[in-house]
Amino acid sequence: MFKPDLHCHSHFSDGKHPPEALLTLAEESGISHLAITDHDFITDTSKLSSKTNVELICGVEISCAWHNREVHIVGLFIDPGSETLNKLLEQQRFKRKQRFITMDEKLQSHGIEGLHSYLESLPCETRTRSHVAEFLVTQKHCRNWDKAFKNFLSRRGKAYVPIEWASLYDVVKLIGEAEGIAIVAHPGRYGLTRTKIKQLVSEFKEAGGEAIEGTYANVDPSMRKFLCELAIKENLYISAGSDFHTADRHWTELGKFPRLDSTANKNAIWNHSRWHSQ
Ligand code: AMP
Ligand code: MN
Ligand code: MN
Ligand code: MN
Repeated sequence: MFKPDLHCHSHFSDGKHPPEALLTLAEESGISHLAITDHDFITDTSKLSSKTNVELICGVEISCAWHNREVHIVGLFIDPGSETLNKLLEQQRFKRKQRFITMDEKLQSHGIEGLHSYLESLPCETRTRSHVAEFLVTQKHCRNWDKAFKNFLSRRGKAYVPIEWASLYDVVKLIGEAEGIAIVAHPGRYGLTRTKIKQLVSEFKEAGGEAIEGTYANVDPSMRKFLCELAIKENLYISAGSDFHTADRHWTELGKFPRLDSTANKNAIWNHSRWHSQ
């Protein structure tokens, strides 16, 4: 059966499972095509020895700046060896490191010690605020993740530190140079009005972007309808993924998101020529 999941995270960023375990989970969930899209790091799927029938797609999820906001762009079918893209991703990870130094100082000023050594002990390539949330919860400074984000890590949180991410324009351009397809990730999760989402999608298209996620875990049905119609109107492809991180956390399961209806399916990313020329 054809069942793609084109957005998920491994333990190289803030997912729980190694890529091999994601593949096993994917097979158990009947997934036919899986894209691992770690934050600001390319998990090189060509090096994975898969004992499953799941087809792997090389992906990435890049944080970027758009009009003073942060949006996420997924790249699929990227060349993992792309020098320019890897250079950009290294810069992004360096910015994250700098951010955590300041975050650690802020936490220390609130009597919370140990973030730096906790982050250093992690085996991953990209550290994110979800690792900090994990630290705050396991060290009993916060009762749960939601509290950790609300009190410390969100824009208004006590330990929040902004980052100057690469621009949307540069990210889309470099994904293209790495032979990939650029996709706006979960457009309904940025707190934007529909007018602003239209503006985001239109500027993304001008930059050379080709697709938006029309369905993802917990997307509101009216938002899904709006996104699919917008993609069709703008002549963009529609992507679909769970944004799975871990089986422990509330909202996701691998492969769990509403299916595209037959109209949206005509614009689905699996009709893109790149899908068939791997
Ligand atoms: P960062 O890339 O460092 O900004 O961290 C963002 C990551 O934290 C996201 O990819 C999510 O996995 C997670 N995240 C962001 N906001 C929340 C939230 N409000 N509650 C739970 N997890 C969140
Ligand atoms: Mn994440
Ligand atoms: Mn994201
Ligand atoms: Mn994601």
